[in-house]
Amino acid sequence: MNNDFLFHYQTRETLNLHAAEGYAVVVPLAATEQHGPHLPVFTDSIVCENIALEACRKASESMKLLLTPTLTIGCSQHHLAFGGTLSFTSSTYLLMLNEIGESLVSGGFRKIIFLNAHGGNEQLMHQTAQDLAVKHAIWTASASYWSLSRSALYEQNAQEMGMVPGHAGGFEASLIASLAPQLVRGGASADSQHPQRSWINAGPAGTFIGKHGQLTGAQGYTDSILPADAAKGTQYLHAIIESTASWLVQVGNWMNEGVEGEA
Ligand SMILES: [Zn+2]
Repeated sequence: MNNDFLFHYQTRETLNLHAAEGYAVVVPLAATEQHGPHLPVFTDSIVCENIALEACRKASESMKLLLTPTLTIGCSQHHLAFGGTLSFTSSTYLLMLNEIGESLVSGGFRKIIFLNAHGGNEQLMHQTAQDLAVKHAIWTASASYWSLSRSALYEQNAQEMGMVPGHAGGFEASLIASLAPQLVRGGASADSQHPQRSWINAGPAGTFIGKHGQLTGAQGYTDSILPADAAKGTQYLHAIIESTASWLVQVGNWMNEGVEGEA
């Protein structure tokens, strides 16, 4: 299997050469945080690593691209109270993303793409992408996988699982049931009465509603895992990987325009 697109498998010499050749670098962002009583705390990282690996493998057939290791700890402050969570505060995480970007710029790279799989990272990721492109003569881009695959997942009727992606509900349970079925724990019958909160995601696009203690669902998850289905999880992953790969190629084409003032 071709692993030439893996940043961390290359030598300094190869990476310096690729930087000069205009390679784009994809930095995947995930989390280690509680996912209710039934899913592993590494859920977002397991999902992220799979999506990033397969989407970049596909995109690398038609663009110059490198994939860095996944940042498996993110900003998960709203999960700390439940236990089972490793987290950076938002200010630390913003600084870390920025310094990863600065490292790539120092290494000669001019195209940086953040790919995210955890809600708490999203705004900080977009802010970092903007800050880096303001400061340096580079291209940046950033996206969460659910934004890239929203229409593809809708076509698959993924909303039958509950919230998409939600948190530790039927949708994420389906993805883990596909990727690591031994990590989905039992006890699902107890959560069939999980309360639906009408105000979650109910406002117009771009608005935010927060309620203390319920930023991640009343019991640390947004909806029941009862509908979870491994075969459907495999289909969702396929749709996400396809959508992500096409976006990467599209972004790669735009980035080939270069940057004014580029060294
Ligand atoms: Zn998750």
